[in-house]
Amino acid sequence: MEPQQADSWASPGNPPMATEGPTAPPASMLDKVAGYESIAMGGEEKYLPPPAYPMPSAGGGQPQSVQQGSLPSISEDTARQALIKYASDHITYSSRPAEEMTFKELKPYNMYRYRLESFTESRKPEWKCEPYHNQIIHCYDFGAPPPPWEVAVDIPKMFEKSKKKVQVPQTASVKGCHRCMTTGKVPCDKCLQTGRVKCWVCLGKGYRLSEERCNHCMGSGIESCKSCTGYGCQKCNVCAGRGQLFFYIQLTVKWENNKFEQIIAQQCEFPIKHLSKVNGQQLFSDQQVQVYPIMNFPDPKVQQVSQQGIQEHWTQFGKTSRIIQQRHTIELIPVTEVHFNWKRKDHSYFVYGIENKVHAPEYPGKNCTIM
Ligand SMILES: [Zn+2]
Ligand SMILES: [Zn+2]
Ligand SMILES: [Zn+2]
Repeated sequence: MEPQQADSWASPGNPPMATEGPTAPPASMLDKVAGYESIAMGGEEKYLPPPAYPMPSAGGGQPQSVQQGSLPSISEDTARQALIKYASDHITYSSRPAEEMTFKELKPYNMYRYRLESFTESRKPEWKCEPYHNQIIHCYDFGAPPPPWEVAVDIPKMFEKSKKKVQVPQTASVKGCHRCMTTGKVPCDKCLQTGRVKCWVCLGKGYRLSEERCNHCMGSGIESCKSCTGYGCQKCNVCAGRGQLFFYIQLTVKWENNKFEQIIAQQCEFPIKHLSKVNGQQLFSDQQVQVYPIMNFPDPKVQQVSQQGIQEHWTQFGKTSRIIQQRHTIELIPVTEVHFNWKRKDHSYFVYGIENKVHAPEYPGKNCTIM
């Protein structure tokens, strides 16, 4: 039999191409599952709103009361040692001003850092369809599938980002493949099921330019189809040749740790951005399912910031995810402004953090190794 002449034949020399990409099953194949009516196959990042639950301030609960801590202000000796170390950390700085200075005033400031973390969980259900290889069908017993927020999923480590995919129980089924009508095979469209194609060497003519017989096809002008190795049909790529498909609803569960952090600073010349690199003394720490705004803190700005942070997280995450756990802390970060005299001139610098770091942009021992 002569191979059919078709324009869709493989071009000479090209490797055989897969005939079709994966073909999604039609929506009519998806079961109607109570609680999951609106979901589709595959999908964009569309996470479900959580069931309603009250915001902490509206739901009662005790706001947190904290006593103001205070650190003893640093001694002159500590202030001097910190500045000597600062000078020695810079190759071109002299430590002489730090060693010889006379202190005039040490002025302490209390800065606070409020930090809130909300550990959230979000859930996205979607239909999945894959070749059936005797997958395990998850079910509790016979009955309706649990709603998305009631599917039991173990929470991994708290306050750490992670993701899990689980099969929703009672949603799995096995169905015949729509693409190959359960045969596991589809017609080869490279050879139109004949198993034979035009010889790529002589382009079907049977002879070469010199009019000698083509020895690739022995003059016949045809060769066996590489796509289907001459069978005229190929393995169905939707069911991987199995003839059956496994359908189920998959729940993607995502955990994230969301942070809110703010420095509550007393007015002074010190650039507060440096405080992100140092530690303070922890005055307060609390962790629970829902934390409550701080109350009765001597500095009312700390209360405001705490209220703002908690409100922000609820507005931001409450609608698309469930807050599983929250924790918040208040740290007291010491900052001392030091005024001193050296060689009859007044200067100043700051010592900050429990590490006693120094900020001294006007240090008189700059840019000189010998003074
Ligand atoms: Zn040939
Ligand atoms: Zn073929
Ligand atoms: Zn199939």
